[in-house]
Amino acid sequence: MRAQPVASHYIDGAYAEDAAGDPFDSIYPATGEVIARLHSATPAIIERAVESAARAQTQWAALRPVERGRVLRRAADLIMARNRELSELETLDTGKPLQETLVADATSGAEALEFFGGIAPTINGEIIPLGGDFAYTKRVPLGVCVGIGAWNYPTQIACWKAAPALACGNAMVFKPSETTPLCALKIAEILTEAGAPAGLFNVVQGLGPVGAALATHPRVAKVSLTGSVPTGRKVYAAAAEGMKHVTMELGGKSPLIVFDDADVEDAVGGAMLGNFYSTGQVCSNGTRVFVQAGIRDRFLARLAERTAAIRIGDPMDEDVQLGPVVSAAQHAKVMNYIQIGKAEGAECLVGGGLPRVQGFEGGFWVEPTVFTRVQDQMTIAREEIFGPVMAVLDFEDEDEVIARANGTDFGLSAGVFTGDLARAHRVADRLQAGTLWINAYNLAPVEVPFGGSKMSGVGRENSRAAIEHYTEIKSVYVGTGPVESAY
Ligand code: NAD
Repeated sequence: MRAQPVASHYIDGAYAEDAAGDPFDSIYPATGEVIARLHSATPAIIERAVESAARAQTQWAALRPVERGRVLRRAADLIMARNRELSELETLDTGKPLQETLVADATSGAEALEFFGGIAPTINGEIIPLGGDFAYTKRVPLGVCVGIGAWNYPTQIACWKAAPALACGNAMVFKPSETTPLCALKIAEILTEAGAPAGLFNVVQGLGPVGAALATHPRVAKVSLTGSVPTGRKVYAAAAEGMKHVTMELGGKSPLIVFDDADVEDAVGGAMLGNFYSTGQVCSNGTRVFVQAGIRDRFLARLAERTAAIRIGDPMDEDVQLGPVVSAAQHAKVMNYIQIGKAEGAECLVGGGLPRVQGFEGGFWVEPTVFTRVQDQMTIAREEIFGPVMAVLDFEDEDEVIARANGTDFGLSAGVFTGDLARAHRVADRLQAGTLWINAYNLAPVEVPFGGSKMSGVGRENSRAAIEHYTEIKSVYVGTGPVESAY
């Protein structure tokens, strides 16, 4: 299987290559096969990308917002028309099953472009009366923004960053994760086809140092990163040096609380979605599932049954529900956490092993795994695993579970399943997280702000809230009378 792109990078409206850059391979996680070979961006490629973005930005910002919005909405339509092709590429890039990628990746990217294309003409300032004088404000674009992506949602992340950035009149240079370099190139192609000026959305490939070069580039005004907390710390510090704006979408170890009065099937379904979707490689996953004593046995019985029935296999088969994890390195990391869980005394209720998938022996497979009797201090209850590994913890009462749920440096998401409406809102109010779900989990529609508190991030993506992070306010004071000077 080959998925070799025309060239490694996309700059100034066309594919670009510089073979002097270090080569790296793109690997299909289901087989371990090399499907493409790319080159990391050289300093010359990075310069070209930033310069062409700066040129395009001036031209783009001068358009009427409704014209900018039209280009983004046209790109959304093109993505939807090509959903199957883009979903297959997403599956090759990540190993996620087609059953998911057909509904969660290109489609979500298209919605972001549609939403921000739609609200582009509404990004206004205000008038502030000051007696005779007055002031007005404008929301002005920041300039050239850099997007740096993680590997779990390569199409969605590119669009979630590009859509608000471009809607506000910025240009973007996007660096995908080196593990999933293919999808963002297609988004760049589509934006060109939709009428974006050459250079408005450039893609440059490479590892951490390419991201670091972009994050410190003097012509870059903003850096938006989706990645881990350790990378976030580095990128935030580097951006601070140049006083750049940042958005940090980082990791989590989110709590999902199941009270005795919850609907068992819904709670089990939510916990499975929040741990096994995308083979557990979702930042907002509810990986600490706190289950109240009175529902514990019923919950675990159904969880074990439904988890054992998950269909693992060829990600291109639309009946398959679970693919491999993204890479050999991620596989080793997840299996190591499973060993640590066993060694520290958690009980493995389901999974814990390596599935054999016929015809896909070279893939990075992990069984969906549920640990019970997990204690708060255990490694698998404290560290982000980013694989299909659920930790179930027992609890007795509301105050206790809230204190334990909040007892982490992360604060990305949280969930609560209960039949008691008053309790649902009370608990949601007390949990420290950027996004809370009540009787649902892991839904992130573009209309709703998404992001983390505490170590899980800074800023918000999606919704009108994202506009704040891709513009700055310019205030204009208008004097209407004689100047009253003291001198
Ligand atoms: P990562 O932190 O290893 O890498 C993220 C990106 O940063 C990659 O493109 C990488 O090349 C780049 N990078 C690495 N070092 C850099 C540096 N010094 N300067 C600039 N860029 C650098 O993360 P990952 O392993 O690709 O993704 C998994 C992580 O992402 C998990 O922690 C997950 O929770 C998080 N994530 C968060 C969200 C969210 O929206 N909050 C969404 C998806 C993933």
